[in-house]
Amino acid sequence: MTDQDILSICNRAELPSPSFIVHRGLLQNNLDLLGDVQNRSGGKIILALKGFAMFSTFPQIRQTLCGTTASSMAEAQLGFDEFGGEVHTYFVAYRKEEIRQLSQQAHHISINSLSQWLQFKEIALSAENKASYGLRINPEYSEVETAIYNPCRIGTRFGITASQLDGVDLSGIDGLHFHSMCEQNSDTLQRTLEQVEAKFGKYLHQMKWLNMGGGHHITRPDYDVDLLVQLIKHMRETYQLKVYLEPGEAVALNTGFLVASVLDIFQSGDRQLAILDTSASAHMPDVLEMPYRPEIIGGGEANEKKYTYELGGHTCLAGDIIGQWSFDQPLEIGSRLVFTDMAHYSMVKTTTFNGVQLPSIASYFPAEDKIEVSRSYGYEDYKSRLS
Ligand SMILES: *Cc1c(COP(=O)(O)O)cnc(C)c1O
Repeated sequence: MTDQDILSICNRAELPSPSFIVHRGLLQNNLDLLGDVQNRSGGKIILALKGFAMFSTFPQIRQTLCGTTASSMAEAQLGFDEFGGEVHTYFVAYRKEEIRQLSQQAHHISINSLSQWLQFKEIALSAENKASYGLRINPEYSEVETAIYNPCRIGTRFGITASQLDGVDLSGIDGLHFHSMCEQNSDTLQRTLEQVEAKFGKYLHQMKWLNMGGGHHITRPDYDVDLLVQLIKHMRETYQLKVYLEPGEAVALNTGFLVASVLDIFQSGDRQLAILDTSASAHMPDVLEMPYRPEIIGGGEANEKKYTYELGGHTCLAGDIIGQWSFDQPLEIGSRLVFTDMAHYSMVKTTTFNGVQLPSIASYFPAEDKIEVSRSYGYEDYKSRLS
């Protein structure tokens, strides 16, 4: 699959602009790798809906992954209705009615704090409960340097520390859950597990399962899969546990594109601006939040190629700037640009801010060389979120 192949798919008239398009062959490559990890390690991988929730792909993903994990009732419902299989939940805070309902339906329920556990223990221990309960632990070790993505920072909202757990009665608890990584390789997991074992090893012997969260960048080319397999086996065998991973990003990594068109080109101050029918603020908020510079097929750094533009969104936010890119050919009104790696997080984070149209959602099926547009948006989608 060359850049040229992707461009020719994204330039087809049947694909509206703007659109997110997921290449189902690339998605399958990721799933094959995740399936291989499961087979070799005996661990289980579930999809974190927070990162990727394009449910038209679920029948395909379900062939490899056994379930989903949800961080809200809406995500849990999507897991039950559209994915099937196991539904795991971890909410930062549950309402009591939510726990009552989930204890009838969910497979695993991970609780964030001892205070929530005390509130819900009675439901968990009642004869009607069908779910397996776990506690989210805070290993107090994370290699994530960006504060907004570091779940172990001082004052974190996430998880129970080893000292808080000291002396606590764990009857009713079957598992432990930690999530302290972001876009990391298995060497980070190795160092994290050393901390988890040192601090929580004595509890793990009494548990049935361990959920090692997300942030495993398994489908990235330089990821050390052999080490991951070895670490999962080590935890399974040492503590006689079922081991789960719940990546979001790794499932959809490098499988999707955001296709946008140039609406206007003009000079402003010292730069040539191109206004697109997409927006950093409404369609790619991580560009501003993280912040990061996405890749554009055929686009270089500013001034690297002959024609440089500052690409701006079409909202009225002054800072709705995607960044500067250069191209071999000048852009024209109507030119399409293809932003890479936009399947995960971007699609779940879009908003109707400024009333700008949401990107359509599409798939490309390589076997039939076919584009299927599964969703397009209009005025009603904007209006229905307001009253
Ligand atoms: C965000 C999140 C995930 C998924 O993380 P990725 O970086 O997308 O793999 C998994 N588990 C929990 C608890 C999360 O908050």
